[in-house]
Amino acid sequence: MIKCDVCVIGGGAAGLMAGIFAAKAGVRTMIIEANPTAGRKLLRTGRGRCNLTHTGSIDDFVRAYGPFGRFVQHSLYEFSPDDVRGFFAEKGLRTKVEKNGCVFPITDRAADVKRILVDTGRRLGIEFVYGRRIEAVEKCTGGFFVKGSGDLVCGKTVIIATGGVSWSFTGSTGDGLRFAADFGHEIVEPRSALAPLVTAEAWPGELEGLGLERVCIITELGDKKLSVTGPMMFTGDGIGGPAVFDLSRLITDVLAEGAEPIEAWIDLLPDVSHQELDELVVARCSAAPKKELAGAIAAILPRAMVLKLCHWLCGSRIVQAGQLPKAKRVELVNMIKGLAVTVKAVRPIAEATITRGGVDTGTI
Ligand SMILES: Cc1cc2nc3c(=O)[nH]c(=O)nc-3n(C[C@H](O)[C@H](O)[C@H](O)COP(=O)(O)OP(=O)(O)OC[C@H]3O[C@@H](n4cnc5c(N)ncnc54)[C@H](O)[C@@H]3O)c2cc1C
Repeated sequence: MIKCDVCVIGGGAAGLMAGIFAAKAGVRTMIIEANPTAGRKLLRTGRGRCNLTHTGSIDDFVRAYGPFGRFVQHSLYEFSPDDVRGFFAEKGLRTKVEKNGCVFPITDRAADVKRILVDTGRRLGIEFVYGRRIEAVEKCTGGFFVKGSGDLVCGKTVIIATGGVSWSFTGSTGDGLRFAADFGHEIVEPRSALAPLVTAEAWPGELEGLGLERVCIITELGDKKLSVTGPMMFTGDGIGGPAVFDLSRLITDVLAEGAEPIEAWIDLLPDVSHQELDELVVARCSAAPKKELAGAIAAILPRAMVLKLCHWLCGSRIVQAGQLPKAKRVELVNMIKGLAVTVKAVRPIAEATITRGGVDTGTI
């Protein structure tokens, strides 16, 4: 039997950080990870760049957690987003702020974040055990038995840091939820959050892979108006990308509870007003009246999107820009400023960036 003061189950971002702070306090710490290495999911964060934190005051962060702000605020005050940046800077990895306030390592490499966490842990004397999946945690006198393949571990304290259930191929299969439930914690059903959305319409599939730099998606839930802004892309069966992920977070529960599909409107050019766009279309059409409509307005949006809009507007007819009737121009502008989609589902949790639900914070 191996004894330690703190046994951390899971060597992801949370487990590594928890282990580092335990070891810093001078106690014998062990991190047990099912994978052959630590931080498998961490390496994929921020498209391999790792969006470490965000700018803003601690109160802004607390507010962003909504009803869970109270639960996380103590931790945020103990170790603030600035402390996160300071922690990595101290170890030689400076960070940079991008225009949306997102903070990334200056090297743009999640691998550097992981390396620093693992190296810091090693220097502090953490014992890393890789390739051992824990199957159960049981209370014993003076601590907990941590049982899995290999030697029995007895920890005076156990930290469950096994992650959620999204991207489970990286190791987060939900074991920790089971361990917590065995100790009497309520588990809120895990659901997809920050995931692509499936639309009732099939046409997004025809534009699969097409990305739009900045859209605004608007929908209504009861009398609540929801609006998200950011990049978006079309997927095989709907829409994805950061703005859509944001929206998915807000509608996951509603769709899971069997609500009717949700109508949403995509403003493809949110920084241009209705009138400005109308003037732009008029200008483009008058500058090249003999050109085919799609060609004349090509620069407004990516070509595949323009072709799609023109197809909806005119069918297979070839319409010269100078011949576009006013009513059709108004229709075109309305489509660009509010392309309707019907959201019928959120993609499965395996594809979600994060898990919604898990251990009920009210039982901690
Ligand atoms: C594509 C993608 C991009 C993302 N981008 C960002 C981003 O830029 N910024 C950001 O903040 N977040 C991002 N996230 C979310 C972020 O990855 C997670 O919030 C973070 O990894 C959670 O850390 P964790 O340690 O709680 O869980 P995990 O990283 O999932 O780690 C849990 C670890 O526990 C291990 N484990 C599980 N069960 C057992 C067991 N029974 N025994 C032993 N070990 C076990 C797993 O193998 C795993 O290594 C992204 C997620 C995805 C999928």
